[in-house]
Amino acid sequence: MNWLRRQDMSSDSPSSDIEGISLCPIHLNLLENLDSSVKMIFSNISESGFSIWIVGGAVRDSLANITVNDIDLATDATPSQLMEIFPSSIPTGVNFGTITIPSDGKFGDIQITTLRKDGSYLDRRRPESVRFGTSLLEDLNRRDFKINAMAIDPINLQFYDPHCGRDDLDSGILSAVGEPFERLDEDGLRILRAYRFMCHDSGPFKPDENLGKALVDSVGNLGSISRERIWMEFSKILTYSNVYNVLQKMVEDGVMDFIILGCNDIPSVDDCYIEGISRYDLMIARLSLLLKSVEEENVEEILNQLLVPNKVRNSVISIRGRIGITPNPESKGCLRRYRMELSDDLFSQLSAERGFSAQISDELRTALSVLPPLVGGLEPLISGNEIISRLGIEPSPLLGQLKQWLFRIQVENDLPDSNSIWEKVESLGFKGQPLGEYRMWV
Ligand code: ATP
Ligand code: MG
Repeated sequence: MNWLRRQDMSSDSPSSDIEGISLCPIHLNLLENLDSSVKMIFSNISESGFSIWIVGGAVRDSLANITVNDIDLATDATPSQLMEIFPSSIPTGVNFGTITIPSDGKFGDIQITTLRKDGSYLDRRRPESVRFGTSLLEDLNRRDFKINAMAIDPINLQFYDPHCGRDDLDSGILSAVGEPFERLDEDGLRILRAYRFMCHDSGPFKPDENLGKALVDSVGNLGSISRERIWMEFSKILTYSNVYNVLQKMVEDGVMDFIILGCNDIPSVDDCYIEGISRYDLMIARLSLLLKSVEEENVEEILNQLLVPNKVRNSVISIRGRIGITPNPESKGCLRRYRMELSDDLFSQLSAERGFSAQISDELRTALSVLPPLVGGLEPLISGNEIISRLGIEPSPLLGQLKQWLFRIQVENDLPDSNSIWEKVESLGFKGQPLGEYRMWV
């Protein structure tokens, strides 16, 4: 693999194109705790004669003392050289210089991007051309915000921060790398990214005066951004701990009109947080609650426009419809039906409910936490065939309703087998028709 080695390792060595300083204990600790698979990537690249840097989020989040969820790497090796070094790698974004190395470490697959300098942006979305380079400085210059433009060299144990992102991080300021108007003009998504980082868990951050002004003046640039990219950023915003103030600011600054048209008043989305909730469930809950303030007839269209995955759309529509319709926590029967109907959406529903009424949601959660599992399991104990042979009826809409109603009786009364269900309904005066509501829950 000798041919891979960089020819000139002396004067223009990328490590020396910016002044670095020795790593601080926090970053040394970050390196020490990396999986052996990531350390292996560092040594393979270095032994092949190239440089490697940790860039972006991991550098920022470790300094902010929050969990590092993801690690982005940059190198001066080109994608094809990387694929020689790592034969199992996948060219996931080769035009933009990204390859992915499959890994089962805690960060999952690892992405490595060749140092680049973006060409001009003609469409406010993507650079017209991407030039692979050997300059770490140029690569950091193309990044959006100063807090995202720091790098660590894990081999030479150096920290690079040419734009003083660490000062911004320490003082809770978000500022653009370079001239904010130009940067937001190059790529309109950076507007939404700015709001995302204002409420990022490594913050909160307040935009500096120039960026604040540019954000409001450039909001129209969001109109040329693909819905996929908008959803990627917006769905992340919904996962942070405190997002109310920033969402409200998005309404005031006209950004929300590009995301959820008609959402003019932000509900208590910060109250949706419940200890132990996953980021995904929290995102679903908050989106459902936000859509509660929008006319029902527009909800599907908004979700379609946002291009949310089908699973998200289905959960959000049903959770939104059920907000405010809660069981009496004193009634075990109601609680059982509620839990059965909500199934995998239960946690998100309780979270959305919490933003609507924290007291009701908390009472409900307490009552559900002591509700034992159903003795008869999670499936209907009486089949359609059993109903047909017992009642002598033909397949029909009535059969479907009967099946649902019998399941509702089973769950509400926590019955163990089909005999006890028939006994129960006969004691209620069953004459071949559901007695009252047949659906499990609304
Ligand atoms: P998070 O952990 O929340 O994902 P992150 O910093 O890793 O934060 P990403 O969206 O994953 O954010 O992007 C990784 C890095 O790539 C950023 O830190 C930033 O340096 C750079 N970056 C991403 N998108 C852009 C963009 N549109 N313009 C300029 N730089 C960008
Ligand atoms: Mg990231």
